[in-house]
Amino acid sequence: MARSTPDVSTTGKKKSQDSTNSVKPPLNVPSAIGLTLTPILAVILVPWYGYSVGFSLYEWSIFAFYMVATGLSITAGYHRLWSHKTYEAHPVVRVFLAVWGACALQNSILHWASDHRRHHRHVDDEDSDPYAASRGFWFSHIGWILRQYKTGIDDFSNVKDLMRDPVVAWQHKHYKLIATATNVLLPLMLGLLVGKLWGVLLLAGLLRLVLNHHFTFSINSLAHIWGSQPYCDQSSARDNGLLACLTYGEGYHNYHHRFQYDYRNGIHWWHFDPAKWLIRLLSLLGLAKGLKRPSPVQIQKARLAMQYQRALQRMEERRDNEAWREGLENAYQKFLSLLDEFNKVQQEWRQLRREQIRTTIEGIDLQRRYADLRSALKTHRRQWRMLTALAKG
Ligand SMILES: [Zn+2]
Ligand SMILES: [Zn+2]
Repeated sequence: MARSTPDVSTTGKKKSQDSTNSVKPPLNVPSAIGLTLTPILAVILVPWYGYSVGFSLYEWSIFAFYMVATGLSITAGYHRLWSHKTYEAHPVVRVFLAVWGACALQNSILHWASDHRRHHRHVDDEDSDPYAASRGFWFSHIGWILRQYKTGIDDFSNVKDLMRDPVVAWQHKHYKLIATATNVLLPLMLGLLVGKLWGVLLLAGLLRLVLNHHFTFSINSLAHIWGSQPYCDQSSARDNGLLACLTYGEGYHNYHHRFQYDYRNGIHWWHFDPAKWLIRLLSLLGLAKGLKRPSPVQIQKARLAMQYQRALQRMEERRDNEAWREGLENAYQKFLSLLDEFNKVQQEWRQLRREQIRTTIEGIDLQRRYADLRSALKTHRRQWRMLTALAKG
């Protein structure tokens, strides 16, 4: 039914060929009907059935399983495994993610990943980003699926690597069959098993489908409109902890656009990111490996660059004197060199640990330098906060 997707952005200035053309592209009839009817039916039938018959724990449990299985298959599978290759997964995991990803009715992995890679590559470009947020909330949320826009034309040239994955090829070939089996046949069987056919179909089938569609769509729309930009302002992508709760951790979208190869979206332990936890758990069980992430220093530098840029802008707007700006520049450069030094010492220390020669004079000296640098960084971080707060005025 629906063409896929999770995320998008906006800063694109130029108008797309589609939007400058007064004639709207033809409707994508199956998607338009499906995406219109399912929310209407869900809004009417679910409360009506709940009020007149009621849902049991059994029906709610199947609903919860379907929500989690389909949601995580899109985020940990379609998005982080296949679109960005942030880790490698065992074939058993890949089959599970492919089956339940198909159940989410966001098209096959190949379609989804191809669109998504174009989104990252051309973010906010109205002529190339399939769900460019620069074309407005409606377009980026759902409009791009409803019509046959030029930016939505199938082009698998950017997913040739995925075509070599037998699980991806199998899912693409049998997508409709897998989607029908998981969306209709399985709920039908689970419902008939205990005489709760309609309850299971309405909750695990209909309501789950609508919720997961719009949760995913909101990454393309809301996560490019609402939130902060701590890592990068070259695209419209934003970090939003609230959205992360609805999207299985995908709400830290500004970070994701800056470090798309990281298997995490929420980098702190307190960040709600179930897809990250699942991938980590799989790696502990030996079912995933090669989890990619940037070093903490790289992440800090990205944040720092944004803070510096913003502080400088504010100083220029207020026409602060040259001495202030010089002070900020010096503090910024010192912070960078401290981070570089820290990174170097940390790597040397890891090397010594691998070689198990920590107790040598070299090791003890390194330990001392490491401790000194940590303390210097702590002090400088405090000074930096004060400086940037002053720039805010
Ligand atoms: Zn995005
Ligand atoms: Zn992405």
